[in-house]
Amino acid sequence: MGFVKVNDRTIPKEDKVFAVSGRAKAAIAAKGKDQVVDATIGALLDDNGDLVVMTSVMEAIGTLKPADYAAYAPIAGVPEFKEAVQKALFADYSPKGHVAVCATPGGTGSLTHAMSNYTNVGDEILTHDWCWANYKGIADEHGRSIMTFRFFDEDGKFDSADLKLKLDELSAKRDQVLLILNTPAHNPTGYSLTLEDWDNVINIVNAASCKVVLFLDVAYIDFAGEPDEVRAFLPKLEGLGDHVLVLFGYSASKTLTAYGMRCGATVCLAKTEEEAEDFTKAVGYTARSTWSNCNRSAQVVMGKIYSDDALQAKVDEERRGYRDMLLERGRIFEKTLRDNGVKSVPFTAGFFITVPADDPAGICAKLEEQDIFCLALAKGIRVSVASISKEKCVRCAEAMAALLK
Ligand code: PLP
Repeated sequence: MGFVKVNDRTIPKEDKVFAVSGRAKAAIAAKGKDQVVDATIGALLDDNGDLVVMTSVMEAIGTLKPADYAAYAPIAGVPEFKEAVQKALFADYSPKGHVAVCATPGGTGSLTHAMSNYTNVGDEILTHDWCWANYKGIADEHGRSIMTFRFFDEDGKFDSADLKLKLDELSAKRDQVLLILNTPAHNPTGYSLTLEDWDNVINIVNAASCKVVLFLDVAYIDFAGEPDEVRAFLPKLEGLGDHVLVLFGYSASKTLTAYGMRCGATVCLAKTEEEAEDFTKAVGYTARSTWSNCNRSAQVVMGKIYSDDALQAKVDEERRGYRDMLLERGRIFEKTLRDNGVKSVPFTAGFFITVPADDPAGICAKLEEQDIFCLALAKGIRVSVASISKEKCVRCAEAMAALLK
């Protein structure tokens, strides 16, 4: 693939995902989309392979006025948006603590917020070994690096023992550690921490000898299952000690299936008002000195949706249909794989499933010979069930199982 060196960063010449999805597009152009399984795309597509665009969201966009597009937004976001994000994130749960919100360009921006304000140059940021590849890129861009704990033990259970080991190791040399957990519907495995996993996380973080900033990347929360069930962990956060600050990375890209609107937020749930104020000042400063303020029109749309019960119900209902379509695809993929004697990495819900493999690149190359395009990761193959129909899930799982057995 090759790399270029710019400053002290090693930058791949070609983005891995764009490269394989380019080959999938070429195959579609040559053979037609029915013949090709393109399981590389990180966006929700319908069974015809077209991007899911929610009509209810588009109707809300249609009510915007020219100034909603043209005017600057405040750095932290328009007030209605900040309210909307809390409603979208917490739903029926009333957070205990001091909440502050700052708009970001998608969930990606909230990772920048967390890394640049809660770690120093040279620090390691702790997260699970299976993780969104961009964590490394964002850390690298800010002169930080990623340290990982093993996400799953030999029995396929959340490896809390390794989390403890790595957190203790980092806490012993730092005053403050940033721990990123991506749940529910983790990318790339589709795993959601169980309530028992959460009890373990809380105990481990509470026992840490330094301050811990617990960043919860909840980008996929609205596609992870029933809204109240996927938020059942929230009250558990009340058991965290005073040395723990909770941040959420929220992404409207997924919730509204509006990736290009670049709308998200960092939400802070602090124990004290002072800590929440410090958060607001710090992340606002980062925003002002990187992307400045965010897309105002997207914020106004969020504000409209979450301040109008009827409109919100319409959006929720429409999303529920797509969410169920996605959940069904995931179950079918996993079942087909299992029926053919192969297990995925533990999967609960979401856009992606990962299948462990000793030679992911080799298997992906063989799949491409059958016009099936997936992403080879270091220890497995990522399949975007978000972008393929049920029938293609079956075809992909059968082909993969035949090669892996
Ligand atoms: N977090 C995870 C795990 C993701 O997979 C993504 C996008 O793919 C994001 C955050 C950020 O999404 P966006 O910046 O598009 O809102």
